[in-house]
Amino acid sequence: MARRVAEGKRPVRLDAVLAGGDKGADIYAHNQRKTCAAVGIEYHLHRLPADADVRAVEGLIETLNADPVVTAIMVHLPLPDGVEAERIQSLIDEVKDVEGVNPANIGNIVYGRRSLVPCTALASVEMIESTGVELRGKRCVIVGASNIVGKPIAVLLMRAEATVISTNEYTEDLAGLTRTADVLVSAAGVPGLITRDMVKPGAVVVDVGINRIVGEDGKRRTVGDVDHDGVVSVAGHLSPVPGGVGPMTVAMLLRNTVDAADR
Ligand code: NAD
Repeated sequence: MARRVAEGKRPVRLDAVLAGGDKGADIYAHNQRKTCAAVGIEYHLHRLPADADVRAVEGLIETLNADPVVTAIMVHLPLPDGVEAERIQSLIDEVKDVEGVNPANIGNIVYGRRSLVPCTALASVEMIESTGVELRGKRCVIVGASNIVGKPIAVLLMRAEATVISTNEYTEDLAGLTRTADVLVSAAGVPGLITRDMVKPGAVVVDVGINRIVGEDGKRRTVGDVDHDGVVSVAGHLSPVPGGVGPMTVAMLLRNTVDAADR
């Protein structure tokens, strides 16, 4: 990555927008700055106050869209009350939208067009492919069907000619479906949702969930959707939380950032 940045035709730069004082977003922005610095990407953080209104956020996005030295834009969530994330995401110039959250980029995935794909979906599929599993014809069950995570993962796997089952909170007999999965991806945001008895022996299991819980010891910690200790002995491959899809998502953001500058 650092070599691609150094050898690129133009300086690679990522402009991030952070409105308000959310602690999680602050930590994410701090880590982004460090990771960008490590590979030579210029990082600019634009802060807006917590009471910024929709016009202020839209105005900043429009300025960044119009600035030719800005090659990549991302918007930290949550946005202030009254500022709808989808409206702001739709406004980001689709060639600078390195999180792939503009509906135009999400739609392009269906057609297999060259576009910026949502980072978490890319990260999940990269992790599946890294196991060497041949996706064509395999049965993949995706738990969770949000526009930014679950649905793009399902479409990417469909493009790889897998047999894909998309499930959501209303799905009947979830366990009956997950037990048939060669590849199981959970992106529901429900800690402990996927238990050992729901996993086919040898399956590739990707845990996308990031959930903050209070453990039995009273301490706060981060867990995924998968009951790691139960599932690890039955799955063929299991991605951990923390440490799996999360860091890979950051890597995909950087890859999209370099791709956007190249174009
Ligand atoms: P979301 O709330 O927008 O969507 C959740 C989806 O899960 C919905 O389709 C819902 O119907 C489904 N769902 C909820 N409960 C379910 C259940 N019991 N059984 C089956 N389906 C169920 O969430 P999101 O933004 O897609 O995020 C999902 C999870 O992924 C969260 O934990 C989030 O923190 C995490 N996430 C991780 C990364 C990363 O980089 N690793 C990035 C984005 C989101």
